[in-house]
Amino acid sequence: LEDYQSGVPRWCTGCGDNAILTAVQRLCRDEGLRPEKTVFVSGIGCSSRFPHYMKTYGFHGIHGRALPIAEGIRLARPDLTIFVNTGDGDCCSIGAAHWIHALRYNMNLTVFLHDNQIYGLTKKQASPTSPIGTKSNTTPRGSYLDALNPLSVALGVANASFIAQAVDWIPESLFEIVKAAYHHKGFSFVRILQRCPEWLPKLHEADMQEPDAVQLLHHENALQISPNLAKVYKNQLKHDPLDIHRAREIASSTDVVPVGILYQNREIPCYEDTRQTGILRTPDIVRKGLEAEFDKYEV
Ligand code: SF4
Ligand code: MG
Repeated sequence: LEDYQSGVPRWCTGCGDNAILTAVQRLCRDEGLRPEKTVFVSGIGCSSRFPHYMKTYGFHGIHGRALPIAEGIRLARPDLTIFVNTGDGDCCSIGAAHWIHALRYNMNLTVFLHDNQIYGLTKKQASPTSPIGTKSNTTPRGSYLDALNPLSVALGVANASFIAQAVDWIPESLFEIVKAAYHHKGFSFVRILQRCPEWLPKLHEADMQEPDAVQLLHHENALQISPNLAKVYKNQLKHDPLDIHRAREIASSTDVVPVGILYQNREIPCYEDTRQTGILRTPDIVRKGLEAEFDKYEV
C-alpha cells in the first residue's frame, strides 16, 4: 500500500477514518490506479484531511464545497479518476444544496460520506445526522430534532444512480462496497458509519456487539456474498438494487443497520456524457460560439 501512502494520519487513535483510508488505499493498489491520474477532493472536517494521506493529486477545499470542486475537475479533465471525501457537516449541512444537485447531475464521481454523526474537528457540536438526544456543545441538554437520514435523502433525488452504506468496523464489507462504488459509472454515493471515539465513543457499541444488529444486503447483480462476508454476517437479506421502493423501506427502518448496495441503476447517463457538457468540454466550439456572439455586437 505504500505506493499510495503519504504521511502519518493525524486522526485520533481508533478513529474510523483510518479504516476508510486503508480500504481506499487497498482499492487503489488492487486496481492499479495511477497516482498522477487520480485525485481526492475534500471539504472541511476531520475526514477532509483525507487527500493529505494519499500519494495522488488532491484538493483540500472549503467547507461544503467538495462536490462543486470535483464537478469542475470532472468537466475539465475527463481522463482523471475522482474521489470525494466529505463529512456529515460538510455534506449534509453547509454543502447540502451541492449534494442534492450532485446526486441529480450523476457525474462519474466516487463519493464517501464519512458520517460520524458529530462535528469532530471543531470539538463536538451536533450535526444534522446526530441522533436525537445527542449532548454536545451546541445542544447541552440533548439535540431535539430527528436526525437527517442521508440514505433516505439520496434515495429521494431523481437521477441518483448508486446509493450504498458501509460501516468502518467491518473491513471486509467496507472494502467490497468501496470497490463496487468505484466500478459504478456515475455518481456513487457511499454513506460510511464512521466511529468517533473522541466525542461519541458509545454510539456504535451495541451495533458492534450484537451479531444481528448489522444486516448485509446482497444480490447476484450487486454485492455478492463471498466466503469472507458469509463468515462475518449472520444477518443477511437478499435485496434487488433496482427496487427503489424496498430500498427506501430499508433505509428508513431502525431495526437493523443495513450494509450494502441499497440502489444501483446503471442506465442513468452521466451528466458529462450529455450534449450540453460536450460543448463545455470542446474549446473550439466554445470559441466559435463566443465569436459568433461578439460578431452580433460589432460596431
Ligand atoms: Fe476521528 Fe473524532 Fe478524532 Fe475527528 S475527533 S479524528 S472524527 S476520532
Ligand atoms: Mg462529522
